Amino acid sequence: MVQYSEMPELPGVVMFKCERLRATLAVSSCANMWRGGNRDGIERLERCKACPVGAVHAGETAASMSPMMGQCICARCHRGATRLVGKHLCVSCYNRQREFLVGANSKGTAPTKVGQLTRRRIRYLSGPDPISLTLDHSRDTMELVVTALRDSKKRVTFAFHSQAQLTQQRLF
Ligand SMILES: [Zn+2]
Repeated sequence: MVQYSEMPELPGVVMFKCERLRATLAVSSCANMWRGGNRDGIERLERCKACPVGAVHAGETAASMSPMMGQCICARCHRGATRLVGKHLCVSCYNRQREFLVGANSKGTAPTKVGQLTRRRIRYLSGPDPISLTLDHSRDTMELVVTALRDSKKRVTFAFHSQAQLTQQRLF
């Protein structure tokens, strides 16, 4: 729970205790930091990204609350990476994919580690907007789910068709 207060020396400035940064902040600074981390991609504001309190202060209630949002995570192996090739794969998965596409690894034997990479598509809602995501090469559906959660700035909702009715499941 967030508790708000006002300090006598700063009348009109609503303050609160930020658990993430372990600091007392003005609501307006928190909103600016959240925007800085999300819209401007300022690295030192990494912790403000995907913070639900910051999103509310910035008036972005449809913002993604996924802890994966904006993280440097490989969609295929789900490991954190220092950089992503094509904003999608870690270097290791990228190299395995290249070997798969060439049809042989560097030793000239058929690659087995990567499994089959095939074209897949999922649909989801990013905030209110329906999105269709297609990956030409993916290992499983989870790779597309991670991609959506990592790359969508807005809250992601996955929909599953079951015969006549459509049920929605909110994952994060
Ligand atoms: Zn990877």
